[in-house]
Amino acid sequence: MQRNLILLGAPGAGKGTQAQRLAARWGIPQISTGDMLREARRQGTELGKKAQAYMDGGQLVPDEVVIGLVEERLGRPDAKDGAIFDGFPRTTPQAEALDGLLARMGRDPVKVVAIEVPEAELTLRLGGRRSCPKDNAPYHVTFNPPKVSGKCDRCGGELILRPDDRPEAIKTRFVEYQAKTAPLTDYYGRRGTLRTVDGTGELESILERITVALEGAAHG
Ligand SMILES: [Zn+2]
Repeated sequence: MQRNLILLGAPGAGKGTQAQRLAARWGIPQISTGDMLREARRQGTELGKKAQAYMDGGQLVPDEVVIGLVEERLGRPDAKDGAIFDGFPRTTPQAEALDGLLARMGRDPVKVVAIEVPEAELTLRLGGRRSCPKDNAPYHVTFNPPKVSGKCDRCGGELILRPDDRPEAIKTRFVEYQAKTAPLTDYYGRRGTLRTVDGTGELESILERITVALEGAAHG
């Protein structure tokens, strides 16, 4: 069975963690357009050179170039059983192009899972994050507190709250995410490929919910 999968989730919804777990469980790669662009540039492929020219000119890499990279990547042996797309598609035209590509390659259509977490919970998750400015050690006031409040376990440094994780910034990120993702959820909703799962609770339970949403069974 081939699994071509897109996870959607607001900042703090745990999308990255769940993507890693699904990739490991199913033995499929995570395909990130950022990674593909960097690799194509490094290898100096035709598409890499094209992409480089746009980036050197300060322009966005056009969809057809990105789709070309995705096609190359999906053609590799490790992606024969599927792939999890990361950071792509971002727009409806990209989503349409991806659908077209998968059909052209004779691959199974993409399935989309939106991980839903209430804004209050996201605020708790992101707003509780702290880090050490000296060694970047991550902490969380509730889920992973340091031994001494406000101090790094490793070096005793004063822990900080990143500007991105301040309440007003979290609100902005959440609103931006909703606005950016709405066209995609509309598109996949209309196509009947969108599933929504509750993203609260234990990581394992969320993983099972995603699996069930994708396959209608708890094991796979
Ligand atoms: Zn430290």
